[in-house]
Amino acid sequence: MVDTVSVSFTVQQFELFERQAEAVGKSPSELIEGYLRDASSVSLDLRDVRIGPGRRRVDWSERVDFADLGDLREELRFEPVSGKAIPLQAGEVLLLRQFEGGQTIDFNAFNLRDYKECMSVGHSRRQGFHLHEGDVILSNSPRIRPMFYLLQVPDTCKVDTLAARCTAPLFELRFGFEWHTNCQDTIAEAIREYGLTPDDVHDSCNFFQNTMWDEEGIFWSDWNSGRPGDTVLLVACMDVLAVPVVCGSGDVTVTSNFSYKPIEVNVYAGSGKTASVVDAANEAFIAKRSSIGPDGYRNGRIKADRELRPDPNYRPDFRRYPMDTKTVEVAIDSGIRELVQKTGAQYGWSEEEAIRRIIVGRAVGAV
Ligand SMILES: [Zn+2]
Repeated sequence: MVDTVSVSFTVQQFELFERQAEAVGKSPSELIEGYLRDASSVSLDLRDVRIGPGRRRVDWSERVDFADLGDLREELRFEPVSGKAIPLQAGEVLLLRQFEGGQTIDFNAFNLRDYKECMSVGHSRRQGFHLHEGDVILSNSPRIRPMFYLLQVPDTCKVDTLAARCTAPLFELRFGFEWHTNCQDTIAEAIREYGLTPDDVHDSCNFFQNTMWDEEGIFWSDWNSGRPGDTVLLVACMDVLAVPVVCGSGDVTVTSNFSYKPIEVNVYAGSGKTASVVDAANEAFIAKRSSIGPDGYRNGRIKADRELRPDPNYRPDFRRYPMDTKTVEVAIDSGIRELVQKTGAQYGWSEEEAIRRIIVGRAVGAV
């Protein structure tokens, strides 16, 4: 026996159905009912429906070796505990290398043309808690663009996105130090050269930091596995100010095996090959229609004073608000009803909610 159930969808969900239906020459209702009909034979792995760059990889498999990096334009050695802000043009390559091994390198980055666009470890982390060769370091919202492509990451180097950065208060609270060397202060001192402030230091991407985690979400660092000569290569995907520093936590934490070591930081001028890497990264990660800068918002100005006060003339103007919905009559037979009831009972969902979750789960899983 066939019944119909009214199911409401947001206009955005319906837009997705319409596009998918058009692509396969069906009507949206045929598509929806098809999704429901085959639902029992398809299991939804929620890892497949997450959004973000997790499912995307830069389409770049060609090997780039040292000959492709271009001329060596800068050769630096950072002693403990120091660092430097280094400008790079798009296509240039930043090299981070261990001298003795076992040294964590904290890292910040800014768009050289607009410092408000800086590295977002949070967005980058969508690729994984550790980044790997072929991943990118992304900038913050609203832009979310590749800042660096990870051209080479040795197996001995974990690229950590969890540990934020060490700060002096952490060392006071944990060990009682009045002040201890730390990456917040080292980065702040390095970026002072460019007029940036301690507030501009952001969560760090940490090279050679072996973070581990458990199922409770607790994370910690394992001993540093970096060996002498281990080399990370990053291709700048925009004109960027890169800020690598020797992590200041190393004498009292295992991140750098209880000792500080210098690091080597070089800049290469890039080549046609590294320019192609930039093109591939931009192609994979920059959304063509919805990427907008602050000027695309109603207030794109940088606030110059610090205190927050409400604007008496403010009237909220959220886009697509209130959210419109569309109600669809969905035909279900006894087989589908059984599946819907079973799914609903498992999670405590109503019949309509269970049908919506099955259908939308299929639609987003199909993308
Ligand atoms: Zn640190």
